[in-house]
Amino acid sequence: MIQHTGTLYVVATPIGNLDDISARALQTLRTVDVIAAEDTRHTGRLLHHFGIQQPMLAVHEHNEQAILQQFVDRLTHGTQIALVSDAGTPLISDPGFPIVRACRAAGIPVVPIPGPSALITALSVAGLPTDAFYFAGFPPRKQTARRAWLATHSTLTATLIYYESAHRVLTCLHDMCEQFGADRQAVCARELTKRYETIVQGSLAQVIQQMDPQPKGEIVLLIAGNDTVYSAEHMELDHCLRTLMAELPLKQAVGLAAKLLKQPKNKLYQHALAVNIEPVRP
Ligand code: SAM
Repeated sequence: MIQHTGTLYVVATPIGNLDDISARALQTLRTVDVIAAEDTRHTGRLLHHFGIQQPMLAVHEHNEQAILQQFVDRLTHGTQIALVSDAGTPLISDPGFPIVRACRAAGIPVVPIPGPSALITALSVAGLPTDAFYFAGFPPRKQTARRAWLATHSTLTATLIYYESAHRVLTCLHDMCEQFGADRQAVCARELTKRYETIVQGSLAQVIQQMDPQPKGEIVLLIAGNDTVYSAEHMELDHCLRTLMAELPLKQAVGLAAKLLKQPKNKLYQHALAVNIEPVRP
């Protein structure tokens, strides 16, 4: 007997405005055998709104490894499953990656039902270059780790995109000022597609000034890429550091480069860390 496997549908749901759900998402959610949801109460409200009564199964970061096999078994035996997260596209800073990977490995069809994602929604209205962008997800919560992590993005030329919670956004913006410079262009996109949608733009310093001191809601931060990377000054600095680091330990190389180029040590140190310079080959 030929066994028909099920399909895993990865279904995007609205990030605020329920009218943003697609006809195909609704059709899929209405016809699958089970809807695997990050938070069944949250998704329950969405399903109730659209009159969908399919059974649900909770899949969140704490149980997704444990239920992998059960998931694959059910699909292998023909169950049709839709995977949704609380909002937007599953797997994008949301659970689901181990499941999709396991299904692919098991030869189970995985079908995307595309729709909203906060990062693309924000990018589409930010007025920052869209030809290349780097989505970094959520910054580390602890400041020391966050600063070191941001430093690794400071020389990227692509538009940078971050998710951040409202209560950390101001400290994060201050750390960005320190790592990227207060003049770097930035956009703070808050509550996209919702009633109090607000998009603030300007230099990092100006964005901080315009922010509510106690921001609320959901936030995407977008930062212009580094446009000085290909400047003559930057190339000279980069070359000098690379050459010195091929011969000397980091600290000495930075000290010497600072003297030669008459630049602050801290700037050179950040640069060396950010670009993770490898020794120059002869
Ligand atoms: N999977 C989602 C997606 O595709 O965008 C992202 C889920 S992640 C857990 C939630 C984060 O996305 C929020 O903390 C916020 O940074 C961002 N976000 C989600 N909805 C948003 C909205 N309506 N406006 C601004 N940011 C939003």
